[in-house]
Amino acid sequence: MKFEAIAVENIPLIKKGDDIAQIICERSDILDDDIIVIASTIVGKAEGMTFTLEGIVPSAKAIEISKNSKFSPNFIQAVLDRSNDCLISSPILLVEMKNGHTCINAGIDESNVEGAVFLELPEDPDMSAESIGKKIEIATGMRISVIITDTNGRAFKIGQTGVAVGVYRLHPLKDWRGQKDLFGKELKITEESVADEIAGAANLLMGEGNGGYPIVIVRGLKLRSDDDTSVKEMYRSDREDLIKKSLKYLRDKA
Ligand code: GDP
Ligand code: MN
Ligand code: MN
Repeated sequence: MKFEAIAVENIPLIKKGDDIAQIICERSDILDDDIIVIASTIVGKAEGMTFTLEGIVPSAKAIEISKNSKFSPNFIQAVLDRSNDCLISSPILLVEMKNGHTCINAGIDESNVEGAVFLELPEDPDMSAESIGKKIEIATGMRISVIITDTNGRAFKIGQTGVAVGVYRLHPLKDWRGQKDLFGKELKITEESVADEIAGAANLLMGEGNGGYPIVIVRGLKLRSDDDTSVKEMYRSDREDLIKKSLKYLRDKA
């Protein structure tokens, strides 16, 4: 068994309005079942998701959080504006975003963006993945999947890794439940996060710095689905998310 990960060469610096699907098609030969992995940074740039902190009016909550934070009230407000809930406010800002993704600083980033501007994640990364994926399918006649990634930290472990924040035609979880192990025992709870695994693999080629490799084609896996798919399939419900419940308990007790 094997699969390949191929970084697409010669991607320009992405600007607002750029057609990422076209940029990919011009620089690669896409095959059926390819998984096109795209760094959210370039999707955000193409969608014009940059902003500055000027003119943001911080709320009392943002000002309060800033007293124990390295971040300015305006930056904190920008994060809160994109969040349903702030799980940890100091010394890091861990939020559940309006689209359900839970991450540091609502995914707002300064790196790999030109000038003194901030970049946020695409507003609806599943929709961005679908839009890019459909265009590639029409242009190439191939049936493909798309994963939009970001680099996120994890609880319990040092080190960031690529994770999926949007998908097209790929179920993020592979359900092993009901299948047998080597000894015929039925698997009861194993759901494999294939979207995050692929994001992590692609991120090995992307890196985090000035490499200039925001697009990786993962080839050799048979994961494409005809269904409508969403990263939300892997977000735990509030009722089932024990870690979030604990964080909220600690926050509200303080
Ligand atoms: P994130 O993980 O989505 O936040 O993206 P990163 O900022 O970590 O960038 C991932 C990869 O994409 C790195 O290799 C960057 O050098 C590259 N990258 C980011 N923006 C651009 C761009 O506009 N053009 C090109 N060619 N590469 C970019
Ligand atoms: Mn990022
Ligand atoms: Mn990254």
